[in-house]
Amino acid sequence: MNNIVALRKCQEYDLQEVLNFVSDIYKSCSGPVLMNRKVLLKPNILSDNPPEKCISTHPVVVEAMVRFLKSEGATVMIGDSPAIHTRGFRALKSGIDDICRNYNIDWVDFSIEPLVIKLRDSRIKVASVIKEVDLIISLPKLKNHELMYFTGAIKNTLGLVPGFSKAKQHARFQDRESFSRFLVYLNEKITPHFFLIDGIMSMDGRGPAQGNPVSTGVLIGSSNPLAIDIIASQIAGYKPHDIPTIHFGLSRAKWLATTDEILYDGPPLETVIKKDFRKVTITRNTNISIRFLKNRLSFLRKLERRPDFIPKQCTGCMECIKICPQNAISMHPEKKNHVVLTDTDCIRCYCCSEVCNHNAVVIRLKIFGP
Ligand code: SF4
Ligand code: SF4
Repeated sequence: MNNIVALRKCQEYDLQEVLNFVSDIYKSCSGPVLMNRKVLLKPNILSDNPPEKCISTHPVVVEAMVRFLKSEGATVMIGDSPAIHTRGFRALKSGIDDICRNYNIDWVDFSIEPLVIKLRDSRIKVASVIKEVDLIISLPKLKNHELMYFTGAIKNTLGLVPGFSKAKQHARFQDRESFSRFLVYLNEKITPHFFLIDGIMSMDGRGPAQGNPVSTGVLIGSSNPLAIDIIASQIAGYKPHDIPTIHFGLSRAKWLATTDEILYDGPPLETVIKKDFRKVTITRNTNISIRFLKNRLSFLRKLERRPDFIPKQCTGCMECIKICPQNAISMHPEKKNHVVLTDTDCIRCYCCSEVCNHNAVVIRLKIFGP
């Protein structure tokens, strides 16, 4: 690993153009040798949706990386494990399944016989394919994230934890800071060897699933997960230290100790920052006694942004109920398509919002009401 981050302006999902940038970025970053290496490509497939929704890594970016890797003599596999999908999932609508078929590439189902690894003081499940491959190349999507503010390289590694096991981690690490520490430790344990962030089109607003597609016009590469997130978060208008994974990652000083250590190769950052990107509002970390009180006094809990379920948008699919790590939501026994929140059980992980495909969960301050 080195500290190089390469960024190229790229406005369109034109396969040949993206392929040229992928090759240029990889070489600029001195990415690992690829000849005769077995590579797992890990896109961000939060849920299987059409590319224009900007929920997942665009198939043109995946295809360009596949072509580049093959041209360099690597063997490629592709896999991911969205939280709500079960065994046998294929990324059909996102266009990634077609790439597997067209290039005769194995799709890896992470939920089959996962490995159990030790991570600090606990054990977690991860995709067993990581033991079979020489390299992992992560392809995150540049997006807002209501819990983590921003999702890039460090967050995408969570996809190696199969299916519902991801939501279980939210139950263990119930606030933004502890979940960020978990993500950083996970990346220290399993560090993908290269990252290419798809920021040609990104998602602002209510990311990572219900936000708005916006043009940010960049592809960003690095073998350093912290360095690339520091650059990518600024494209979305965030101050890197406001992002808890970045703040904690810098304090660990494993990948970088300061932002000044980044070797940046690209146009001046101020020319690519998307100034009108609608960011998630940063909530300052409260001190421990206020957090203690918030957890106990229901009125103070209502000063936090929480999920609000919109019956007229809801289809009653119950995906939010399946994913909720706290069993804090249920369908109303009488009213149709009406999800009920037990607020005292909710840990504000926002998994329900991530999985709702119908814009029926809004994360907001709701002082009054149940
Ligand atoms: S809120 Fe969304 S995920 Fe939950 S039941 Fe309604 S449509 Fe499904
Ligand atoms: S209701 Fe939503 S935000 Fe609350 S714990 Fe469940 S999934 Fe997380």
